[in-house]
This record gives sequence, C-alpha cells and structure tokens, in this order.
Amino acid sequence: MARIYPLFSSSKGNSSFIGNENAGILIDCGVSFRRLAAALELNCIPIEAVQGVFITHEHSDHVSGLKMLTKNTGIPVYGQKRTLKQLCDSDKISPCSPIIEMPAAVVCAGMEISCFNTPHDTVQSCGYRIHTADDKLCAVCTDLGHVTKEVDRALTGCKLVLLESNYDEDMLRTGSYPFYLKERILSPNGHLSNDDCAVQAARLIAAGTTHLLLGHLSPENNRPHIADSVVENALKGFTRNKDYLLGVAPMETKGEAVIF
Ligand SMILES: [Zn+2]
Ligand SMILES: [Zn+2]
Repeated sequence: MARIYPLFSSSKGNSSFIGNENAGILIDCGVSFRRLAAALELNCIPIEAVQGVFITHEHSDHVSGLKMLTKNTGIPVYGQKRTLKQLCDSDKISPCSPIIEMPAAVVCAGMEISCFNTPHDTVQSCGYRIHTADDKLCAVCTDLGHVTKEVDRALTGCKLVLLESNYDEDMLRTGSYPFYLKERILSPNGHLSNDDCAVQAARLIAAGTTHLLLGHLSPENNRPHIADSVVENALKGFTRNKDYLLGVAPMETKGEAVIF
C-alpha cells in the first residue's frame, strides 16, 4: 500500500517520507537530523529504509538537516542542476553522498520519481511526482507563487497531492511581517495562498484526485482550520469523505501516515 508520512510541514521545516518500513524516499530535509530521525522512529520507519533524498530547492526550511543526513547515511541526493550546485557550493551535502541531477525520471526505492518546475524566488525550484511500486501516483508541491500550466499538468491525475496552502491573505496583509516580506510572499514567485490552493484543489478533485493534503502553512499568517475551510468551501460540488479526503499536514508528525 502506498503511504506518505508528512513528517514536517510549515515555513519552519519540511520533510515528507514516501514508502514503507522497508524502503522509501524523503522529499526535503528541512529539520535537524536528530529531529528527522526521531520523527521516522515515531512512525516505525528505520533510517535504513530511507534510500534517497529529493530536494525541491535550497531554502533552509528544506535543507537545514541535509548535511548531517548525508554525513550519517551516505544516501544519494537528487535535485535539479542549479539547486545541487548551490548546495555543493554552500557545503550543504557531505562528500559521503552521491549527487544525482534529475533527468526526466529516476527510479529509487522501487518508485519512479520525476520533477516539475515551480515558480519560486530561488535559483531553481521544483516539486516531485512519484509513481509508487503499487501503481499509485502522488505529488508533493510546495513553495510556489502561482500554479503554472506545468504544475497543473504534473498534479493532474495524481491520487494524492500534498499542495501548499501557505497563507490567509487578510492575515498576511494585516500581520506583522515587514512590507518587503509581504510583497515577497504575495508575488508570483512567492508562496501559494489558501484561496489559490482552493482553486487548484477544485480542479484536481474534478480530475480524479481523491486525497488532498494541505502543507507548508505559515504559523504566522495561517491556521489549519482556516486553510481547511477555505479549501472545503471550494469543493462544494463534492462530498467530503466520500468523493475526497482532505487533511492538513501537521507542522510536526504525531506518527500518522496517509494511505492512498
Ligand atoms: Zn519553504
Ligand atoms: Zn522556499
């Protein structure tokens, strides 16, 4: 059975494990190795099961634990060319680990993984689409200012999608962030709002997605119940828990996987 373990998801750190107790992959490693190892243990996943780490981009909330993860495990690091160069130049990957630039698709832990570009303010940024060993499709897509055609294509047809629902626009606009940071987050290369996430969620559910996980919530500019209700409201033509399942990826795992 295909499973995703959203271990950490917020502006403070991101990492998801896809697979099972025998083999799987991590998408990002934005918390310390100690916290990552504890989160895997809480989910009964031995660290030896992690066979590769796929990096979306080089912001610290996605790579802060990468150096120690690679030092302690030597697992391969996958990513896009400019992201990998940036990580190497800033000494974020231990020499213990092979570095593998993403071609069209790679096979790791018995799954086929491909990447798609995401519009975000960094040297390069992507999401991942995963074809599991039992023939299920899922995608992890956070850190994007808007949904491009390429993103839409990559997400369409996935059974499960972990999609960014970063901020409530009113909370962000009236909140305490400095002006330049608000502008950055609101820009087409910033983050995805609850409203924009909801529009895409409706497209995906109409196209056959059944499992939707909202992720990368801002602790300052969002609340799980707000993101949840904005998306649910956009899915009024469908019945929750019948046509689709909707959840919010926890900021830190309490030991729950989503089976899809
Ligand atoms: Zn991020
Ligand atoms: Zn980012």
